[in-house]
Amino acid sequence: MRLLLVEDDPMVGESVRKALRLEGFTVDWARDGREAELAVDDAAPYDLVLLDLGLPRRGGLELLRDWRARGRGVPILITTARDAVADRVAGLNAGADDYLVKPYDLDELLARIHALLRRRAGRIEPVLRHGPLQLNPLTREVTLRGEPVALSPREFALLQALLDRPGAVLSVAQLQARIYGWDDEVGSNTVEVYIHALRRKLGSGAVRNVRGVGYMIGAFDEPAAGAGE
Ligand code: CA
Repeated sequence: MRLLLVEDDPMVGESVRKALRLEGFTVDWARDGREAELAVDDAAPYDLVLLDLGLPRRGGLELLRDWRARGRGVPILITTARDAVADRVAGLNAGADDYLVKPYDLDELLARIHALLRRRAGRIEPVLRHGPLQLNPLTREVTLRGEPVALSPREFALLQALLDRPGAVLSVAQLQARIYGWDDEVGSNTVEVYIHALRRKLGSGAVRNVRGVGYMIGAFDEPAAGAGE
C-alpha cells in the first residue's frame, strides 16, 4: 500500500513516516501544498492521502477541493490541529473521508487508515482471503492452509497488492508503485525477484503471469497433497 503523507512539520512528519513504514506502508512525504499537488497529479497511484490543512504554498482544504473537483477519488484523511467543529465540517464536506485532530495517538491513526483502506476495497473485515491463503494487514501475518508463511516486507506488500484486487492483472509498473516510494532505489526486474520468492513460498501457481500484461493472484484450489511441499 502506498500512502502520500502531506505534512510541513518536520518532527510530526518524521514520526508519522516512521510509524507508517514500520506498519509496512510505502510512504511518500510531501512537505508543502505544491509538492502534494504534483504528487497526486503524477502517475503514482496512492491508496490513501494523509492531509495536513495548514501548509505552505497551497492550503490543504484548497488542494482537497481541487482534487475532488477533478475526480480524484483517493481516500483522504485530514490530520490537523484545527479542532473547531466548523473546520471538521468544512473538511468532510470538501470530500475528506475522515478527520483526525492533532495531537493524535499513532495507534488511532493506523486504525483509521486500515479502516479507510478496507472501505475503499469494499471489504468489511480486515483479513484478505483467497482460497486457503489469508493475509492480515493489521498483524502482518500470512497463512496458507492455516500454516504461517514468513514473508519479507516487500514480498508482503506485493502479495497484499495482488490480493487487494483479485482477478485484476497488475502491470510491473503498478506493482513497483505499490512497493517503492520516492526515496527507494529500484533495481531492474526486482518485482520479478519478489514474484519468484512468493512462488517459492506459496507454490508455483500462487502468482499468475499474463504475458505482456502483468501479474495476478493465482488459483489455490488444489488441496494440499500430503504434508509439506
Ligand atoms: Ca501544518
